[in-house]
Amino acid sequence: SSATDTIRATLFPGDGIGPEIAESVKQVFRTAEVPIEWEEHYVGDQVDPRTQSFLTWESLESVRRNRVGLKGPMATPIGKGHRSLNLTLRKELNLYANVRPCYSLPGYKTRYDDVNLITIRENTEGEYSGLEHQVVRGVVESLKIITRQASLRVAEYAFHYAKTHGRERVSAIHKANIMQKTDGLFLKCCREVAEKYPEITYEEVVIDNCCMMLVKNPALFDVLVMPNLYGDIISDLCAGLIGGLGLTPSCNIGEGGIALAEAVHGSAPDIAGKVMKNMANPTALLLSSVSMLRHLNLHDKADRIQEAILSTIAEGKYRTADLGGTSTTTDFTKAICDHL
Ligand code: NAD
Repeated sequence: SSATDTIRATLFPGDGIGPEIAESVKQVFRTAEVPIEWEEHYVGDQVDPRTQSFLTWESLESVRRNRVGLKGPMATPIGKGHRSLNLTLRKELNLYANVRPCYSLPGYKTRYDDVNLITIRENTEGEYSGLEHQVVRGVVESLKIITRQASLRVAEYAFHYAKTHGRERVSAIHKANIMQKTDGLFLKCCREVAEKYPEITYEEVVIDNCCMMLVKNPALFDVLVMPNLYGDIISDLCAGLIGGLGLTPSCNIGEGGIALAEAVHGSAPDIAGKVMKNMANPTALLLSSVSMLRHLNLHDKADRIQEAILSTIAEGKYRTADLGGTSTTTDFTKAICDHL
């Protein structure tokens, strides 16, 4: 395709297994002739004073300019004087909703055959506000911030998503019986938005009961919307229902239409770099890249790549260790490319 048809997108290969699985995505995109030109940005080895984090200002500018990108996992550096990489991205790019689809993969048997749900996580506040301090020695305090603005925004996104994706029900997950003010406000906002969508069934489920229902019968759920920390935990639980973190994609939605897709999992230091390599399952990042393509309305390429991933897994000849197979990342990637 000519240079004018090419879409520029930001790529953060990230840490740990990140560069290995990002390489898979690049290879699959080349094979499928996806008209994307990557602008690659690595996490720096020193703090950029303009972002107060290891992420460079230029890398953030790249996402702002391209409005679309893919990110590998980023390890949280331990130490003082800088912000967490993921928190920096979420705050600086205002990535207010994290959308995590989770569905049973045909041909890969788990306890459940009929998982098909979407977790929508509030991504900017709650317990992740970073407001923690010591009150006196032996007593610390952490502030959970819930605002009407952020709650309405994520609720609106969830209902709009349900409506435009043929979904029938939105469940707000909470603990408002204990967190009366914070989760109470979150629910109030969800109710307000629900009234604008009479065609979508709305329900409220307490988080502990939600966990029980999910492991008993995940088919009970459709779209789930929830504050930040609950979303973090519930989406890992959901990943477990379908075969693990190697499989589940996500997409961060920001204000003004920015979309930054990423896998749900982290940098997997136990199977990365010096310890081992070429073991990671690239499926989660690949499916995230598919959601990026859908965001760009490149549905044709998205369908083809998704189909190639799913049939490779279904066939069962090439699977990575997390799915009980013996294939390397590169063998599995090559099998997907052969399907394409
Ligand atoms: P993790 O998700 O990296 O790993 C948990 C387990 O899942 C490990 O056993 C790992 O080997 C396995 N796993 C994860 N992804 C896999 C894949 N693609 N293929 C095969 N197996 C896979 O969680 P962790 O060990 O708690 O975190 C490691 C680092 O990653 C930490 O620094 C954490 O802060 C960071 N992290 C980053 C993100 C992100 O960038 N969005 C998300 C979660 C954790």
